[in-house]
Amino acid sequence: MITLTHYINGAQVAPINGKYMDVVNPATGKVYAQLPLGDEADVEVAYQAASAAFPLWSKMSVDARSAILSKIADLIDQQLDELARAEALDNGKPLKLAKHVDIPRASSNMRFFAHAITQASSESHFMEHEPAINYTLRRPYGVVGCISPWNLPLYLFTWKIAPALATGNCVVAKPSEITPYTAYLFGKICEEAGLPAGVLNIVHGNGPSAGNPLVSHLHIPVISFTGGTATGKHIASVAAPMFKKLSLELGGKNPNIIFEDADLDLAIKTTIGSSFANQGQICLCGSRVFVHRSIYETFRDRLVEKVANMRVGDPFHEATQTGAVVSEAHMNKVLSYIELAKEEGGRILCGGHRVILEGENKDGFFIQPAIIEGLPYTCRTNQEEIFGPVITIMPFDSEEEVIAMANSTVYGLAASIWTRDVNRAHRVAEELKSGIVWVNCWLLRDLRTPFGGMKASGVGREGGWEAIRFFTEPKNVCIKY
Ligand code: NAD
Repeated sequence: MITLTHYINGAQVAPINGKYMDVVNPATGKVYAQLPLGDEADVEVAYQAASAAFPLWSKMSVDARSAILSKIADLIDQQLDELARAEALDNGKPLKLAKHVDIPRASSNMRFFAHAITQASSESHFMEHEPAINYTLRRPYGVVGCISPWNLPLYLFTWKIAPALATGNCVVAKPSEITPYTAYLFGKICEEAGLPAGVLNIVHGNGPSAGNPLVSHLHIPVISFTGGTATGKHIASVAAPMFKKLSLELGGKNPNIIFEDADLDLAIKTTIGSSFANQGQICLCGSRVFVHRSIYETFRDRLVEKVANMRVGDPFHEATQTGAVVSEAHMNKVLSYIELAKEEGGRILCGGHRVILEGENKDGFFIQPAIIEGLPYTCRTNQEEIFGPVITIMPFDSEEEVIAMANSTVYGLAASIWTRDVNRAHRVAEELKSGIVWVNCWLLRDLRTPFGGMKASGVGREGGWEAIRFFTEPKNVCIKY
């Protein structure tokens, strides 16, 4: 049994209230760690430490800050194996996914913003007739709050922390209580990299105990949140009346549109990943697959044949393609949507049931990836986020029809289009109400691009200059001469 600690003021510390909660390994169903159930008192100590560190950190040269963030990236690379094992252990994802995606991306996040900040500049505006010049100062806010979810734990934790720190803010961060292990290890890495005490503080605990005091803290003016839409709505209801600056990265119900002229081999191969990678628990996964009627049966049959044979198993086995979903509660939620789909008239073409493995994985939370057809695009199964290894598949006849179906949910995070017709790709991309559109690919990420969702998928954008701007406050200075 591991006992995890907060990382506050440069030290690993126990919760002030002495309370802990269980952390479960989803592939075995067994408790493997005790997590501090931090509360308002820990958040306050973390805030005080961050506030005290702010003058030093914000005035440190950009080169010096950048060097420390780069060192953190180097240490993540050096500890790749240990971090990937930790991620697989508490999330249930295949170890090879953690090794090839989660942890390398966490180090890229740190390195990207370490470099980006050395290139940042602000605008000036010249007024010819006065004459006068305006210049914009961009300064860090002080102490900012970062809250992250369980699906890509270290990847999304660092995606917020890196730009917040690079711009000179100090941070109080709360990782998901369901997958806290790599955030705990990250605190140790920051210590090793020489990050000054108090610059980053990691407070563990659940949403009500540790998240809420962070969001409602009087002196934390900025909150960057990634998680569910319902939580985002609650956070906005607390933070907006306090006039906090908010970035909300929320849920999705992403369409994957396959036109008749698509490269079918590539579209099928990529659709397997875009539907079921990380057990379908990536906010960018396509969960509604729309296929042109002329190729519908061919595409469906080829996809079902491959998905029905996907190997569900121990995250630590090399051959495993699908690991465990993150928790028992989440498994039950996903399975309840399979029942709902049946009630709504859906046919389960493959999977959709719990898988009971042998040996130490016998109590793990495994689901065989499911494909469902025969549902109207308006039903609940097709409108609500399931966030598991479940997709629906539907035929369409025309571009207009598929655009209307794709845009019919409250969400607007990501979409994929498969076509060889470049004009159609541009037309459809333009019409989709989606913050990100991939054409003939999925999850191809350039960290300079704006990242985020429309409608109930979020407010604001992360990535590149968007993140640098989010974490800095602009001030215009106007000089007449
Ligand atoms: P969640 O909303 O339950 O929790 C996210 C974080 O918020 C956790 O750290 C949690 O402890 C905290 N939290 C919960 N209640 C809180 C409160 N009242 N105040 C402050 N913090 C609180 O989400 P989850 O189940 O961890 O993650 C899955 C969701 O995240 C899915 O909806 C998924 O689509 C979404 N997601 C979105 C993106 C994106 O970039 N748009 C990326 C990943 C995941």
